[in-house]
Amino acid sequence: MSGAQADRQHSSCRQPRRCCDAAATTLIAAFCSLCASFPGIAGAAYAAAPAKSDIAFVLWRNSLWNDARAMGISRATFETAFKGVTPDRSLPDLVKPGEKPQAGRGQAEFSRTPKQYLDQRYLMRLAEKGKNLHQQHLATLRRIEARFGVPPAVVLAIWGRETAYGTYKLRHYAIRALATQAYLGRRKAMFRKELLYALKMLDDKVARLSDMRSSWAGALGLTQTMPSEFYSDTVDMDGDGKRDIWRSVPDALGSAAKQLKGKGWRRGQSWGYEVTLSAPADCALEGPKQARSLAEWQKLGLRRSKGQAFTPALQKVSAYLMSPAGTHGPSFLVTANFTVIKRYNPSDLYALFVGHLADRIADEGDFATPWAAIKQLPKHEIAQIQADLKLLSYAIGKVDGLIGSNTRAEIGHFQSRNKLSVDCWPSHALLQHLRAVTSK
Ligand code: CA
Repeated sequence: MSGAQADRQHSSCRQPRRCCDAAATTLIAAFCSLCASFPGIAGAAYAAAPAKSDIAFVLWRNSLWNDARAMGISRATFETAFKGVTPDRSLPDLVKPGEKPQAGRGQAEFSRTPKQYLDQRYLMRLAEKGKNLHQQHLATLRRIEARFGVPPAVVLAIWGRETAYGTYKLRHYAIRALATQAYLGRRKAMFRKELLYALKMLDDKVARLSDMRSSWAGALGLTQTMPSEFYSDTVDMDGDGKRDIWRSVPDALGSAAKQLKGKGWRRGQSWGYEVTLSAPADCALEGPKQARSLAEWQKLGLRRSKGQAFTPALQKVSAYLMSPAGTHGPSFLVTANFTVIKRYNPSDLYALFVGHLADRIADEGDFATPWAAIKQLPKHEIAQIQADLKLLSYAIGKVDGLIGSNTRAEIGHFQSRNKLSVDCWPSHALLQHLRAVTSK
């Protein structure tokens, strides 16, 4: 159903009595009672009984109004923001009736291989543009680093990753996207809170309706800020009295840096280093649970891929091994700042993209080891591998079909114990081997 069609259906109760005369079911009766108490669903003359799903959404919206009112949001703001809004069932991460919630559905971070996600040509273009923007905004970037400790290249890389430096066309209306996620999504409570803050932004007149263009998850502005973060983590870096994350580059970049600082960014520390593994160290040493100091990693034989040594000041820094493609691509020792970037968007590939783009903007070039063209199994097959490993008492946490450090390391342990070639990557061959073992 289009927004306009829905609007027409919802507009059927301008005359509540007439609407209620037509009520034949409990749900329609509930809808009619809303007509009298909820002018936002009033409209032209009675046409046809609304669908059950529409009524359920209207009821849900009515309960949301109670929360909005408690936050001091005006009825006028609420009505204007919700004009014509219906759930957008094409969004990712929704829980359809009869379906079990699944994490990360539809997100590029979890459906593409590292080689696809870290597309070489795209990274080159972003890096070139990032270098120009670095020159253009140098004074601002220096002020941001002095205040929040986040280097210019990292702040620029967040901007580049999130909206290609403001050139992305944000396809969604934030109120609709957030309402859909709060009504039908896998993380309803979180999105309900974000929706209320988005309404508050409109009511406080810190954002216009036209500013409410967003990602499918309701993130706003040049560096994709969630509405609650607008209140907790944005800054007026250009000093004009407004926190304009849509049009002011200093405000947007300062706000991204403030968020990173709030998430624990450590001044003067890199996100991580590409390394070369050699026996006895292997990819099964991956993951935060196996973190060690850089000095200890060196003793295990790991070396920086481009030849530089870790300076004495770095020796004590704690880092964990991360091989996003197992042995089929570069490996990294990542620090606490990598984890901080993951708090911006919880994916290894996202954080690696940002860290690597920052390195490229700072002229550190490409990875030393190329990505091999490996295949990404569908999610249900990755989940099957996780389930089989769990059955065999390997330390798999959630069976969620998402490949992360822990899954890769446990695959490595299984391969090692079963005298298979250790590549720490979920493949068809591994799946078949596990099926054979678990069906015995
Ligand atoms: Ca400003």
